[in-house]
Amino acid sequence: MVYKHGSEETDLSTSEGEDSSWITWFCGLRGNELLCEVDEDYIQDDFNLCGLQGLIPFYDYALDMILDNDSLSGDIDSEEHSEIESAAEQLYGLIHARYIVTSRGLNAMHEKYKKADFGCCPRFFCEGQPCLPVGTSDIPHNGSVKIYCPKCEDIYLPRCKYQSNIDGACIGTTFPHLFLMTFPSAKPSAAVQQYVPKVFGFKLHKDST
Ligand SMILES: [Zn+2]
Repeated sequence: MVYKHGSEETDLSTSEGEDSSWITWFCGLRGNELLCEVDEDYIQDDFNLCGLQGLIPFYDYALDMILDNDSLSGDIDSEEHSEIESAAEQLYGLIHARYIVTSRGLNAMHEKYKKADFGCCPRFFCEGQPCLPVGTSDIPHNGSVKIYCPKCEDIYLPRCKYQSNIDGACIGTTFPHLFLMTFPSAKPSAAVQQYVPKVFGFKLHKDST
């Protein structure tokens, strides 16, 4: 059986290291560290995908690609194949946003947070606080993903430009806040140190600027 991931054609029956599922392959791409692997059981339950069918072109093919179902036969040309691949990526993102606010998904993201997979706060006084991904919108194509620091409670652009290509809707606006309610021990104490501008060692008077 021959699968195409990106432009590479790979024969799964003979190549070592290429026998991973589509989900594992996709989550292993550079930049996709912000995403967790959604359980196939979750995707196979139609109830969880309710309402997504109308949003994604080639929905059935895209879903089959995600689940490694072998429906992509020889009738599909390479242009259609790349459209289906793009649809599969969009569909996975929308499923992902739903999954990570379930208890299984929150647990999967907790494991990644503990490893600081989502990156650390760039703010000096946050002392490398691990961050969580967040979307500024739940609507697709409405802004890229950001990272949220639970210490200074602000959001930042991800440091990795590949992560900046991820649609914020793959994470959504609720995730980091529900995460911190679910795992209160993951919430650090608030940042206390504030940067104070000084000129020749003197703090600036508030009327001086
Ligand atoms: Zn911070």
